[in-house]
Amino acid sequence: MNFADLGLSDELLRAVTEAGYSEPTPIQASAIPSVLMMRDLIGIAQTGTGKTASFVLPMIDILSQGRTRALMPRSLILEPTRELAAQVAENFEKYGKYNKLSMALLIGGVQMGDQVKALEKGVDVLIATPGRLMDLFERGKILLTGCELLVIDEADRMLDMGFIPDIETICSKLPKTRQTLLFSATMPPPIKKLADKFLSNPKTIEVSRPASTNLDITQRLVPVRADKKREVLRTLLNAEDVRTAIIFCNRKTTVRELNKSLRANGFQSSEIHGDMDQPARLAELDRFKRGDVNILVASDVAARGLDIKGVSHVFNFDAPWHPDDYVHRIGRTGRAGAKGAAFTFVTSEDAENIANIEKLTGQTIERIAAPGREAADEPAAERPRRERAPRREKPVEASATREPEPHREIGARDARRDAAPELKRERGGRRDRRRERGDEDGDDGGWNGPIPAFLDVTLGR
Ligand code: ADP
Ligand code: MG
Repeated sequence: MNFADLGLSDELLRAVTEAGYSEPTPIQASAIPSVLMMRDLIGIAQTGTGKTASFVLPMIDILSQGRTRALMPRSLILEPTRELAAQVAENFEKYGKYNKLSMALLIGGVQMGDQVKALEKGVDVLIATPGRLMDLFERGKILLTGCELLVIDEADRMLDMGFIPDIETICSKLPKTRQTLLFSATMPPPIKKLADKFLSNPKTIEVSRPASTNLDITQRLVPVRADKKREVLRTLLNAEDVRTAIIFCNRKTTVRELNKSLRANGFQSSEIHGDMDQPARLAELDRFKRGDVNILVASDVAARGLDIKGVSHVFNFDAPWHPDDYVHRIGRTGRAGAKGAAFTFVTSEDAENIANIEKLTGQTIERIAAPGREAADEPAAERPRRERAPRREKPVEASATREPEPHREIGARDARRDAAPELKRERGGRRDRRRERGDEDGDDGGWNGPIPAFLDVTLGR
């Protein structure tokens, strides 16, 4: 199967070839023809399977017919985070370079005024996070009645972040006769319900490839004593053929401290975590993408969903607390056919987390000895199980258990909160949706720098 068989235009095929893609991924091969036939579609496939191009490519061809009207976007793409929205915008730039389409990006952390200006002229594609779009809608700054194509991307993450009610409201503002596409890595019941309500006679495409059984990713557990982690990490970074690496830590403080320590030891690293404002995060990500640094130390929330190509290694400096975070983390490597390696540090405290990961992925991950004998922790299995104070049941919902990183609190760092995430999680069992929205989509205050180029980009002119 190649791209030319999918019914895409010549301009688009040229852009795709120039982007270096030779073959469509399975989800692209199944989705693109249906989208071109204007069908509603549910696309379920793991992270890293190329879902973005499966809607961006046919959309470019569909939108190349017809014209824009003031204040009215012709199509709308909803993304859970600013980073993902920015990545989709980059995709439109890349593939749409031979098509005359205009787009606007509506995300938190960028001055509202500039975004409104971009919209006044009317755009072919509006890419938005739900919170910011709702704000603008409530102020009457935008009409969605001309929007005949809607994409709900990363639907399961939208659910995690409490955006489903917003999405329902947004859907109700769009014309009834429209094409709706929904993409997700998983299909939990609330997403199924959303699809039943807002899609009509959709075609469902499911590409089953659990990220964990991705044979292109070599996974290893490294038993290590907590106080030896940095040392072992440095040894692995030197011993392995590490071209680019993301190192995940569970706590923001660990991200900061580890990055500092790596730099002090001569590594080219940078950091990304939720205490950083949006421009700072994007700047760090750019440095990594440009290759100014080849190691990115990250927290889960800050890194989730980021499209960073060719990461050769993922290191879990801390074993993730939640098994789905493990799948997301290692999904940063071995993407779209490239080989990758994932190392997970395991201390004796992590036995339960590792057991949960292995249960979720249905695999036993191979254990290797940490380089340096004294660095190795006693194998958890051989230790007598220590009696622990009975722990309260972990909240069941995934949404209640993510590492909360409220951007609102930038500057007001509270070391205790960083140091006691366990406690924080228990307290925050039910999340406050407004606050959550503030997390990703808060006020305009954060952005004082230049307007990013992708804000009001006119393609192919
Ligand atoms: P998803 O949304 O499913 O998580 P993305 O759309 O972000 O995945 O794509 C994951 C990675 O695969 C990106 O780096 C993208 O550039 C790359 N990619 C997508 N389609 C192809 C293709 N047909 N051939 C090679 N690489 C691809
Ligand atoms: Mg995606």
